[in-house]
Order: sequence, then structure tokens, then C-alpha cells
Amino acid sequence: MPYVGAIYRPPSEARSFILQVTVGCSHNKCTFCSVYKDKKFQIKSLEEIEEDLKEAEPFAQHIRRVFLADGDALIIPQRKLIPIMEMVNKTFPNLERIGIYGNAKSILKKSVDDLKALKDLKLGIVYIGLESGNDEILRKVKKGDTTANMIDAAARIHAAGITLSVTVILGLGGKEMSRIHAIDTGKVLSQMDPEFAAALSLMLVPPAPLCKEYEEGRFHLPGPFEMLEELALIIAHMDVTHCFFSSNHASNYLPVQVWLPEGKEEILALIREVIQRHDRNILRPEAYRGL
Ligand code: SF4
Repeated sequence: MPYVGAIYRPPSEARSFILQVTVGCSHNKCTFCSVYKDKKFQIKSLEEIEEDLKEAEPFAQHIRRVFLADGDALIIPQRKLIPIMEMVNKTFPNLERIGIYGNAKSILKKSVDDLKALKDLKLGIVYIGLESGNDEILRKVKKGDTTANMIDAAARIHAAGITLSVTVILGLGGKEMSRIHAIDTGKVLSQMDPEFAAALSLMLVPPAPLCKEYEEGRFHLPGPFEMLEELALIIAHMDVTHCFFSSNHASNYLPVQVWLPEGKEEILALIREVIQRHDRNILRPEAYRGL
């Protein structure tokens, strides 16, 4: 498959067929993000996508899940996204689910009816990066969105009957805003009420602009146990209907998985015990962390 540049996808799409329909990210300004900085955003033409799908035809019977890359493919206007999804449905006769990244802006450009039309074409899950539930932090890291928009976008996804998965980033507020970042993130996650939520731990990877802030002493990265304090605070402040929360991503120091609210007290007790023991050997070694 002729992908343009490196491809990123959520861990839960590891077994999915990755179809690149956009190149890069339409926003591409987040200061903590290094992944698409070398790509100029573009939407691939229908002809290019058709060619890519042709290459998948020999094994099409075996494909059940498709993930539409790159970042924020939901930004594709409805008039073009519908034919793309129709082509995907036509190519894969046993297709069960299409997944996609969407930021709040791109979700809010679509009406509930637009999203329902995509759901009819098997859009089953939308992944959105909340990153932080604190608006000052979102502004500082140039996320280009507000928590109010994130909450509205989540409501629209729910109204369309599509599964919502939200990611947040431990450490994003720096040491100074660590506590408020975690508390506000737990509260906004509660309002977004996703079926899935995942925490990543901030890794400063060039050319992310936040690396420079860190090197110049303008950003103070919380340590591993401070990030675990954030993890516990987020979970403690989550009041959700039924959500699978995980910190399994390779960037995290402590992988946890829990159904909330059922497993809340048990997982909090575990995280607090790890914090109390303060034994770095229990945590994922720095060399094994990755994005
Ligand atoms: S974090 Fe997401 S929205 Fe921000 S620049 Fe990276 S890919 Fe784009």
C-alpha cells in the first residue's frame, strides 16, 4: 500500500486495514505533537483512494475493520466522504466497522444527520483527542479547540449512535498545572461520557515545539509518579455511564485497564499503592516507552 509518510492509528485498530484518505493533519499546530509536522495536509483524490482499494481486493474477504487515516480524516467534506465510504463498503463484503480520527471542529461541521449517514455506511467509532479538560492548557498547547466544543462534539457523536473514544495526555499541564489538568480532565471526560477513554503520557519528541519550551526551561515535565498522581485524579473525577478506560499505550509508565464506574475503587487503590511504594522498577522502563 503506497502510504505517504509514517502512518499512525489508535492501538485498538492494530488489526484493521489502514486506508489513507488524508495526508497529515488539518490543524497540525499542537505544540506537543510531532507526528505530522513533515506532512502538508491534503485530502487524497477519489482516484488515488480507488487505486489503493484495488490493491486490497485480493484479500478483501478477510477485512472486517477499516481505519481511515491520517489525522482528522473526518474533516473531509460530506460530499466526498460519502463516496469514499461507499467504495470501502463495496470493496470489503464482510466489513463490520470503519474507524476514523476526528477533532471537535470537524465533528461539529457535520450535523447529526450527516453523522447518521456515515453510520449507515458502517462508521462505527470516532477517536477524538481531548488531551486536557482545562481550557488554559488547551490554549497554551494550541489545540485549537475548547472543552465546550469537545463536549458538544461528543454529544453529536452520541446522538448519531456512533461509539466515542477519547484520549487524554498525562503531564500536558506541566508540573505547575498538573493537579488542575487532571481534575478538569476527569470532569470533562464525565461530560463527554465516552464508551472508551485512554490516557497517554506526554513524551517530548522533536520536532514538537514543546520540546524547545522544555529545553529552554519554560515547560517542566512531571515525573513518572506525578503522572500516576494525575492518572488517579482523572479516574477519581470520572463520573461516566459505562466506559472502558485504559492506559495501555506504550508511552505510559503503568498500564491499567478498567471498566468504569464498576472498577473505580479497585483501580484507584492499585494506582495509589504503586505511588506509595515509589519503586521505579515497577514502572515501564524509560527505554521501552514510545509513541
Ligand atoms: S495532536 Fe492531533 S490535532 Fe493536534 S497536531 Fe497532532 S494530529 Fe493534529
